[in-house]
Amino acid sequence: MLAQPSSRALAAHRRPSPSGPASAAAPSAPRPCRCRACRPGSGLGRAGALRVTAFREDTAAAQPPLKTEEQRRMAQGQGQGQEGFAEGQRQRLSRRGWAVRERKAPLAVWSHTLGELGPQEVDIRVTHNGLCHTDLHMRDDDWGVSKFPFIPGHEVVGEVVGVGSAVPASLRPGSRVGVGWIANSCRSCLACLRGEENVCEKGYTGLIVGGNHGGFQEVLRVTSDFLYSIPDALGSEDAAPLLCAGITVYAPLKRHMARPGMAVAVLGVGGLGHLALQVGGGEGGGGGV
Ligand SMILES: [Zn+2]
Ligand SMILES: [Zn+2]
Ligand SMILES: [Zn+2]
Repeated sequence: MLAQPSSRALAAHRRPSPSGPASAAAPSAPRPCRCRACRPGSGLGRAGALRVTAFREDTAAAQPPLKTEEQRRMAQGQGQGQEGFAEGQRQRLSRRGWAVRERKAPLAVWSHTLGELGPQEVDIRVTHNGLCHTDLHMRDDDWGVSKFPFIPGHEVVGEVVGVGSAVPASLRPGSRVGVGWIANSCRSCLACLRGEENVCEKGYTGLIVGGNHGGFQEVLRVTSDFLYSIPDALGSEDAAPLLCAGITVYAPLKRHMARPGMAVAVLGVGGLGHLALQVGGGEGGGGGV
């Protein structure tokens, strides 16, 4: 979906509650996702987001597994002096994912290396990711804003594995969070101040636009106030498609279904339409927003 609705609807989830735990609070224990796809022995999710199974599922830490004892020593900076330390740093900050290397090319495993985690940034171990048609538009550079290679995926759910020094205390390793299409904005224009970053006057930053990398990777780095806490009652596989397809239909329904019982027509019951019917209260509308 190129034209994004307001993200205001989800804004309540964006900024961690000021009544959250104080900074002195102990980090909360990792909370496993309870959705069907995450239960032991299950394969892919029944619908919506696919569970990310392409890589090791038991990677508790942010870095990919190291292969040899020598590499482990190097990562710890013990083996080869400055050179070994640099190699260790490179591995620690290396990220592996499925990338589109050139226009219309199929996804291929690809690695890139990040800098150190910034004060406002969060690393998320991706567990679930929806597939949106926009990922395909971006793959094919249909809108002229793709830059290759890039890692698609912008309906992302995962577990926080790293937090920058200035990230609010309510976001800690183990927090289950989601990321959608918008990764950043100017935060100072009138639109941003209204909570409508999707029409930021300076242009928002798209998660997978212009060479930025999305959720089809093991660990995704994002700015902390553009991610959403996932409520305990919502399974990750159900949450992921809401982060683009869901908000795209939710926002206009929320804004325009002003009266209880108001009918709404959904043209096309596809990826978005079937969510619109659920959000809108089912057959005949019903003002369920
Ligand atoms: Zn799950
Ligand atoms: Zn999308
Ligand atoms: Zn702005």
